[in-house]
Amino acid sequence: MTVRVLGVGAAAPELRLQASDVGAAWGRGGRGEVAVCAPDEDTLTLAWLAADRALTAAGVAAADVDALFWGTSRPPFAEGPSFAFLAASLSLSSAIGGSLSCGSAHAGMEALTAGTDAIAAGSARIALVVASDAVRPGPGTGFEARCGAGAAAIVLTFDDGTTGAGTTGATVGTRVTRTRPFLDRYRGDGEIDNRDMYDARLFREEIFLPVVREVATTLAAFDVRAWSLPDPDGRLGAVLARDVSARATSSADVYSSVGDTGAAAALLGGIAGLDAAGIVAVVGTGGGRTTGVLITAAGPVPGAALTADALAGGRPTSYPQALRARGQLEPVGETIPMGVPAESAMFVRGNDEMLGLLGGRCVDCGTISTPPSIHPHCVNCGGPKLEPVALARSGTVHTFVVNQTMPAPFVAPLPIAVLDMDDGSRLMLQAIGDGSDIEIGCPVDLVLRKYAHERGVPVYGFKARAKKEVGT
Ligand SMILES: [Zn+2]
Repeated sequence: MTVRVLGVGAAAPELRLQASDVGAAWGRGGRGEVAVCAPDEDTLTLAWLAADRALTAAGVAAADVDALFWGTSRPPFAEGPSFAFLAASLSLSSAIGGSLSCGSAHAGMEALTAGTDAIAAGSARIALVVASDAVRPGPGTGFEARCGAGAAAIVLTFDDGTTGAGTTGATVGTRVTRTRPFLDRYRGDGEIDNRDMYDARLFREEIFLPVVREVATTLAAFDVRAWSLPDPDGRLGAVLARDVSARATSSADVYSSVGDTGAAAALLGGIAGLDAAGIVAVVGTGGGRTTGVLITAAGPVPGAALTADALAGGRPTSYPQALRARGQLEPVGETIPMGVPAESAMFVRGNDEMLGLLGGRCVDCGTISTPPSIHPHCVNCGGPKLEPVALARSGTVHTFVVNQTMPAPFVAPLPIAVLDMDDGSRLMLQAIGDGSDIEIGCPVDLVLRKYAHERGVPVYGFKARAKKEVGT
């Protein structure tokens, strides 16, 4: 059974931090920039965006996906429904199979190999593989100035020669893996920030190069057109590229755009190389494991050419703002807690409609009422029979306000918009940004963001964003 790539998608968070800003705080220099999550972004919102783009590129409806394989070193719940929340926010079937891999930066490769195996075994016809990460580096570590965030997604299907899928896309093939019991970058039990390498020379000479070189040179026996290679310090990627006589290193552009994206790095570099025919070698490492996979493209893979655009741009941020966004710099004082805990009845009953963005459509007059949990009767005719319906993801601004003062943990200015959606429904949601880019009548689309993080639990929902298409 051939495992075929139908489409790919990439995502980067909103903020960009200069390495020299980080270096200046610690009496060092620094080159380049990295991507950093805004306070309302995390590994789940990044995974959602990359997956949404990959499904669009592949032309696959969310309801047709059989299995989701998600790799991240930092699932939003240390233990909890991370997988279920991502599946619901993507409107995947409640019968979805698959798995969540975590525990190290190797998790993205584990998601890719698990998805490939599920297709090859016939347990899934269409698999969605997502790798995302937003590592929180220890302040003052050398890694801090290189630590980025991002996500990559790949839609896989099978091809037994009868599906007609063989004319486009790419196939996933040869795999090499090695396991060795050593510490590289890690977090101890109960720790929140990642530690850096203990001894850079020991890491280079006895941990990283021997095993990654072995995997890469094995793959170099094939006619590889582009390489995705790990680059933990800004130099080792180039060393590996020389070792395998790489003609092109598609991961180098990804590292320079968004930094080291942890569990997402290997797949992001890989999908960036799928924009032309040829073999792409994807090598990922972390937690004592290194895996390399070959993907052979018959031509440009749908979505691959949009990778650079998806990672470009971003809003400049300062080092103190990045520390605040990561929760490493917090003000002293009272915060206003949510009135209801995240495990309460309101969320148990409301999570489906918040994550799936559902409304209630009146069976009598067709009017859509939102949110359905607050409007058990039709807002137009008062009818009692409402059926759940997925709401449109784009519309226009009917009106909006910008709150200039907000109690912590909210951050002002905070725009809130009333939206007329393309399906005739009306929604009131927070808008992304400071409100300067929205006006009455302007088109918006909806993206998943984090509304709150309290008692250790994230609360997700959709927010309005002034319309901006990747690749246009
Ligand atoms: Zn009605």
